[in-house]
Amino acid sequence: MLATLKKKFSAFAKNHFGNNKKGGKQLFCSQPWEFFTVNPEGDVYPCRCLMWGNKSIGNLLKQNPWEIWNSNEAQRIRMSIVKGAFTYCNKDCPYLEFKLLPDKEQVHGSFYRTIISDKKLTLDCGPRVVFPAVDRACNLQCEYCSEIRKNLGPVLPQRAHRIYQSLSTDAFLKDAHFLLIGGPGEPLVSQSHLLFLENTDFSMYPQLKIKLFTNGLLLNVQLWQRLGRNCKLISEISISIDAATEHMYKRMRPGGDWHALLENLRFISQLRKDGRVDQFAVSFVVQNDNYKEMKKFVEMGKQLQCDCIKFTHLINFGTFSESEYKQKAIHKKTHPENKEFTRYLDDPMFDDPRIRLRTPLRAGLQQ
Ligand code: SF4
Ligand code: SF4
Repeated sequence: MLATLKKKFSAFAKNHFGNNKKGGKQLFCSQPWEFFTVNPEGDVYPCRCLMWGNKSIGNLLKQNPWEIWNSNEAQRIRMSIVKGAFTYCNKDCPYLEFKLLPDKEQVHGSFYRTIISDKKLTLDCGPRVVFPAVDRACNLQCEYCSEIRKNLGPVLPQRAHRIYQSLSTDAFLKDAHFLLIGGPGEPLVSQSHLLFLENTDFSMYPQLKIKLFTNGLLLNVQLWQRLGRNCKLISEISISIDAATEHMYKRMRPGGDWHALLENLRFISQLRKDGRVDQFAVSFVVQNDNYKEMKKFVEMGKQLQCDCIKFTHLINFGTFSESEYKQKAIHKKTHPENKEFTRYLDDPMFDDPRIRLRTPLRAGLQQ
């Protein structure tokens, strides 16, 4: 199922992909030595996004996590990166598409230098970032991700629970600095995520922090209290919104309650002010229908005293037909309103250091 979706997604991306070299230099991506991302079927990918890596390195429902981490498949993926082939990476990975990876020769740090010079394919330490993307349940029905969630199959809490159990065995999290809790789906709807967050004894992982990515509708004081002492591990909260008015929110986030969201945003803002979390971000996926709310969204983020206000371009995860996507992808030069969009972004308000305009939105300004 996921393979079909990836195929569709890759077809779109092929048009944008050059090669794995930047100015004749060979690129390097450290993610296969850092990430352990698990999908709802238990398949593991050594990359932050389930959609970008096209080869699983093992399955947590059948194998021990340590065995997967240094499996033959993991080594094959790492070798392909060391050689600069990127054979198992989907060409739609933005790091490749927009050449955001560093030149292999300029990679710093002894850990990575050894990996490159010795072609180090197995690791004594565990992953630095663990991302159990194991439950697709959500309380909203956004058009944007409907296809991804559909293709990930039914919600099976028992399976997600087994995956979490497996991650908790043999001190697999001992070297992890970050546990990412987020989509596909809404993590705070999922009992699997919640029970794990609530009941796990993280005291043996003193360096571990949690980054929470949520639509924010359930992140209120009751939820915070439910997490008990483990809420102290949450260092970063990022809320995906895609709108700055109630009217647009209802269009972008069918099923969402704007007023409940605003109340929760104020609660999270207070957590940040009290120093109970280190980072508070809000995010917005930009498309034809909502881009004129970007400035209002910046104002909203500032009022909430967010550390980061993130804008990303619309990616077609197989949800839209080619013509629908063309009509929505305002960031593309071929879009009839792209010039107007570029002028809209050419406003000093977007120079604020708290604002992160992801490539290619930023690139649009430099055209
Ligand atoms: S798909 Fe992209 S981010 Fe993932 S390992 Fe490959 S280059 Fe790195
Ligand atoms: S809130 Fe996020 S996971 Fe849920 S439907 Fe919307 S985009 Fe998808």
